[in-house]
Amino acid sequence: MDQKEIYEALAAIVGEDDVTIDPVELVAYASDASFLRAIPVAVVRPENKEEVAEILKFADENRIPVTPRGAGTSYAGQSLAYNNAILIDFVKMDKILEINLKDRVAVVQPGVIYGELNKELRKYGYCFPPDPGSAIACTVGGMVGNNASGIRAVKYGATVDHVLGLEVVLPGGKIIRTGGRVWKSSSGYNLTKLLVGSEGSLGIFTEIILKITPAPKYTAMIVPVFEKYEQGLEAATEIINTGILPSAMEILDDVCIMVLNSALKEQDRLPPAGAVLFIEVDGSNQEVVKEEAETVRKVCEKIGVKQIIYSTDPKRTEELWKLRHSLANLLAKLRGENIAINSIQDFAVPISHVPEAIKEVKALAAKYGRLMVAFGHIADGNVHLGSAINVEDPAQREMAVKFASEAVDIIIRKHGGTLSAEHGTGVSKAAFIELEHRDTLTLMRGIKKVFDPHNILNPMVMGLTEVPKDEFVYMAGVK
Ligand SMILES: Cc1cc2nc3c(=O)[nH]c(=O)nc-3n(C[C@H](O)[C@H](O)[C@H](O)COP(=O)(O)OP(=O)(O)OC[C@H]3O[C@@H](n4cnc5c(N)ncnc54)[C@H](O)[C@@H]3O)c2cc1C
Repeated sequence: MDQKEIYEALAAIVGEDDVTIDPVELVAYASDASFLRAIPVAVVRPENKEEVAEILKFADENRIPVTPRGAGTSYAGQSLAYNNAILIDFVKMDKILEINLKDRVAVVQPGVIYGELNKELRKYGYCFPPDPGSAIACTVGGMVGNNASGIRAVKYGATVDHVLGLEVVLPGGKIIRTGGRVWKSSSGYNLTKLLVGSEGSLGIFTEIILKITPAPKYTAMIVPVFEKYEQGLEAATEIINTGILPSAMEILDDVCIMVLNSALKEQDRLPPAGAVLFIEVDGSNQEVVKEEAETVRKVCEKIGVKQIIYSTDPKRTEELWKLRHSLANLLAKLRGENIAINSIQDFAVPISHVPEAIKEVKALAAKYGRLMVAFGHIADGNVHLGSAINVEDPAQREMAVKFASEAVDIIIRKHGGTLSAEHGTGVSKAAFIELEHRDTLTLMRGIKKVFDPHNILNPMVMGLTEVPKDEFVYMAGVK
């Protein structure tokens, strides 16, 4: 089927205004936050589940691949339309359908922006807590697609811990519901949890039922700066061992501190140091919050802190979090045209393994002469390591492939970790899927076949169809 015929079929479903094959518009959908690119054959913007069902029926009958897309902020290429796929943009399905305080649920369409939903929930004293760094842009549908999380996952869990039910359109156009409004169920397989994190490969969400959480009344923020990176790691471990459950605990290394300082006014800069922690404790009892913050401060002082910033003022706390969240953009600027090595960007290891795993991968980076930044959600074992290469240089590319495979081996095989703690496997990390899931990949592929017998839904993700040789392999080849 050619592009014009696809356009006409889609226009018959959604109307001419909500489908485009204009090359300029298509290019605007050709990227996400990864280094991959793919131009869709058409972009379609449905307004309701019936239209989504019609689109999937048409695509399935004609064996045209389909990629659902929220805000397209994914880091691993999973929101791109490879191989002339139709891209479904959920910008018109962006309604908060219900906030029900009695059942403590919110029902939303997939295109709702996370930050907007939380603004609305906060009016009632509630929140949907996973809080990814992309909060102001990303959609709830995309968060469910990736099982996204963020700085507060350590206390409040990832997206999967808050999704109670889904309305899903399957390839062929059948509309099903999984789960519901009940907070727990031991009846049947938990298909809702299976669909969370499926990266658009099993079905398309048209409605999402979320459990909502009372927003904490009080918070305290403690930002200790340590001379050595190891002291930061030791402080994090000791704080966890006191039994306190922080609502967030982030670690940033010396390079990250330099990068943050480059964007700060002289008087606001952190001293040059090996590590800084951003620690938050929260709760509904102000005295308990203060006590916990005091315990954190004492641990940091015992270890030998260089400087400590303390805040119970919500405005100051917000500023400090803004500073932490600015890191991703500042690092992207520093990277320039170079490409981040994706496979080490988002791993997690068991909490007690974090210090060793970081040390070993940093040592490996030094062996390969790489500049590496390390930061992340230390309290739940999720670390972001950053290093970039000039992908046009074959020697750097070859080195990156070797470095990445040795690093991933350390993370998965030696420390029992996972390739992706929150960003998803997508396409760019699929080269390593077998290393982590060697016993279950066949089963996963079987599940994919049951949901999607003609393999039309985002077929390139998670190694479900084929396992790429390395993370750069599709850069040139993908249309
Ligand atoms: C600066 C920055 C910071 C980030 N920080 C974090 C972070 O802290 N934690 C984190 O987890 N991620 C983070 N991310 C990655 C990303 O923003 C999140 O994973 C986010 O949830 C993706 O949402 P999105 O709307 O952009 O989804 P998209 O990227 O558009 O899609 C994500 C996946 O969901 C699928 N999908 C989208 N809509 C549907 C639907 N209706 N039905 C079925 N599948 C669907 C897509 O096909 C794709 O596979 C960050 C990204 C950036 C750029």
